This record gives sequence, C-alpha cells and structure tokens, in this order.
Amino acid sequence: MGNSIHICGICNQTKEDGIFLYQLYICEECEKKIISTSPKDENYQYYVEKIRAINQSSYTI
Ligand SMILES: [Zn+2]
Repeated sequence: MGNSIHICGICNQTKEDGIFLYQLYICEECEKKIISTSPKDENYQYYVEKIRAINQSSYTI
C-alpha cells in the first residue's frame, strides 16, 4: 500500500506506522508509551517537552 517511512521525533528511529502530532511524527510504539505514561512519570515530561519544542518551532516559521 506504499507506506511512507518517517523518523519518529521521540525515539529517532524510522518507522512505518505512526501519527503526526502537529509537525512531529510519533511512531506507534511511542504513541502507546505516551498514552500509557502517567503525568507523574518523569518520562511524561520528556515526551511533553519534545512535543512542545516542535509545536513552538512551527510558530516561528
Ligand atoms: Zn518512536
């Protein structure tokens, strides 16, 4: 079906399955991790920072 390969903005690996959140591509695995991560978890902050960084950079373009 011609899946396009993108680089995940969280784990920096090339993946076929994933979603775009703003301009950040997130692979299926990372998406699941983000969803299953509690906001109290320190990893959650890491994901949020990543997403926020991309989101802010899109404003300046
Ligand atoms: Zn990933």
